[in-house]
Amino acid sequence: MSSPWFQEIWRIVGLLVAALLGTLLTNFSLSFCLLLAVSAYLIRHLRNLNNLQEWLSQKKTPVPDAVGIWGEVFYQLYRLQLRNRKRKRKLATMLKHFQRSTAAMPDAAVVLYGGGREIEWINKAATQLLGLKTPQDLGQAITNLIRAPIFQQYLYSGDEKNSIKMPSPSDSNIMLRLHIVPYSDNRHLLLARDVTNLHRLEQIRRDFVANVSHELRTPLTVIAGFTETMLDAEDEFSKQWERPLQLMAQQTTRMQRIVDDLLLLSRLESDIPMGKLQQVHVAEILESIAEEARIVSGDIAHEITLDADPDLMIYGIPEELRSVFSNLVFNAVRYTITQGKIQIRWYADVDGIHFSVLDTGEGIAPEHLPRLTERFYRVDVARSRSQGGTGLGLAIVKHVLNRHHANLHIESTVGEGSLFRCDFPLSSAQQLLLPDDEGMMLNDEEYELVS
Ligand code: ADP
Repeated sequence: MSSPWFQEIWRIVGLLVAALLGTLLTNFSLSFCLLLAVSAYLIRHLRNLNNLQEWLSQKKTPVPDAVGIWGEVFYQLYRLQLRNRKRKRKLATMLKHFQRSTAAMPDAAVVLYGGGREIEWINKAATQLLGLKTPQDLGQAITNLIRAPIFQQYLYSGDEKNSIKMPSPSDSNIMLRLHIVPYSDNRHLLLARDVTNLHRLEQIRRDFVANVSHELRTPLTVIAGFTETMLDAEDEFSKQWERPLQLMAQQTTRMQRIVDDLLLLSRLESDIPMGKLQQVHVAEILESIAEEARIVSGDIAHEITLDADPDLMIYGIPEELRSVFSNLVFNAVRYTITQGKIQIRWYADVDGIHFSVLDTGEGIAPEHLPRLTERFYRVDVARSRSQGGTGLGLAIVKHVLNRHHANLHIESTVGEGSLFRCDFPLSSAQQLLLPDDEGMMLNDEEYELVS
């Protein structure tokens, strides 16, 4: 037991002894003297309680003077108060430093709170990049100030892994990348970075690839036409040069395919849709692709099966979806050299709507899987070329799937086969949640979802 408690017990004992002495020395009864002693003790406590209440309610007053257990209580409370003040000062300094550093940041930072995403705090860059004003805009819902539909969709999507690219609301020449992260109960941090230069570079690269591909188209058509004519001619010259002419024709066709795929990729990148957004009868498309695949399979005669739900339709761009499905099915045919099985499926489950191609082909080693959708990435370049591949098929697949908010999932075991699966969100079955004609999502070249 600590000493203040001893003092307190001695104090009580003292009072009891005083009450006994009072009975012995005076004519008062024991109960009266005890009552006096207890009252004195109670009055002391009440006075100290009063001091405590006054001290707590008036923060600036000095610590009340007291002895015994009350002195200890006041002392401990005083130390607690000092500790809190110190912590508060430390926190205030930290907050000041944090605010200074974020204010000096070249990226815009906005703290949003509540379900309405009201603005709580903004830094200096947010005034320039997002056109927000302080203090006028504090407390306002951010959606009243940044009205781009893609921003509003992104804000409530809860998708913290992705960011969006959009023009600055204050200057359409500035391209921003916006990222929103939740960080505490009902609070979000909106970060915006100026990516104008990067955007321009991307634009230049896209235009360059598109222009070069376009320029190559005509010469290639001419070369292909003449080579074919020379091959068809029955004269001595053609017979003598038959082999070189055949090689020229093969390579020209390959180059034409590459140019076509590059042009298609450029179109997909610049968000020009290949067709109109509509309800797509996927099962029908798959039936014709499976039929074509059986023809391409030729002598190898793969066992190609199709299990497609005929009532399962999604909203999308039919031409683009066809290119995804045919790329994956024809890859399965091409990379399953010996007679093998290819299973094509179109189905829905609780996780979404899926298109899958399972083959018993050569398979792909795990180190290649993350890079397969890069342009011109091929596991075996010579083999891809000999199969007539361009190395652009899976890049096209990825782009189209992105535009349809779908993901490509690949599983593969060398020597056993591969599974390529496209996962569409369940919402794909409803028109409202897909890119609309006003370019609210990915159709508009200005707006882009960046993973
Ligand atoms: P390519 O025109 O070369 O087929 P893709 O982009 O379609 O280009 O595919 C990239 C690479 O992925 C291919 O070169 C091949 O190595 C590998 N690949 C694609 N599909 C399969 C498959 N079903 N089985 C094995 N490898 C595959």
